[in-house]
Amino acid sequence: MNLILMGLPGAGKGTQAEKINERYNIPHISTGDMFRLAIKEGTELGQKAKEYMDQGELVPDDVTIGIVKERLEKDDCNDGFLLDGFPRTIAQAEGLESLLSDMEESIDYVLHVKVPEENLVERLTGRRICPECGTTYHVIYNPPEQEGICDKDGAELVQREDDQAETVKNRLKVNMEQAQPLLDYYDEKGYLVTINGDQEIDQVFRDIQAAIEKQ
Ligand code: ADP
Ligand code: ADP
Repeated sequence: MNLILMGLPGAGKGTQAEKINERYNIPHISTGDMFRLAIKEGTELGQKAKEYMDQGELVPDDVTIGIVKERLEKDDCNDGFLLDGFPRTIAQAEGLESLLSDMEESIDYVLHVKVPEENLVERLTGRRICPECGTTYHVIYNPPEQEGICDKDGAELVQREDDQAETVKNRLKVNMEQAQPLLDYYDEKGYLVTINGDQEIDQVFRDIQAAIEKQ
């Protein structure tokens, strides 16, 4: 199963990706996570990506398509993959299309998790992340058992630098402008499925399952 998750920052892509990964055992490939890891490890890719990320700009298409290509060629993608945060431009979508066609693969569904914009600021500013395992929590909607501590490994939760209230609004605006052409692109190809993300986390997941298990 080859899936793409789309939706504005805070729509719940990462949260649902975790559940899809557990249920269907396909790897969650987030370009944002890959860039953050590269920065943390101080690699050449990380140095390049950081210049753009710090400005809130997109990393150039050739760099981004390159890391996705490398990732999709790994063995754990043989039975499918779940892309999150990629593609973000039409050039990336076309790059992916040609990558997949070289691998004799194709996209099954593009899941668009849709949430009214006014709910997203609260979701993003309340988001907390485990720096060790990447699990995502929310201070109100999805709190850990013990405040500020990851349920899985006991690490102290952190807030992403770009989840501060001041930057969130700009990210939402930029993302909205970028997303529409891609949604139209996948709609025309017949891949797009819209999921109501303004429901409880488990209900959103049930709707995703119903959509992808429908023959
Ligand atoms: P994205 O990956 O799309 O940016 P996340 O999965 O990180 O979004 O979710 C953003 C925040 O909203 C997190 O704190 C998460 O716990 C919370 N969240 C995710 N899904 C829901 C939901 N259906 N209802 C309420 N809060 C949610
Ligand atoms: P956001 O919720 O702001 O979209 P992400 O974790 O998806 O956060 O991405 C963080 C940053 O990483 C982006 O602002 C951008 O600089 C870079 N990035 C992630 N995915 C891509 C992509 N597909 N193309 C270009 N840049 C990307």
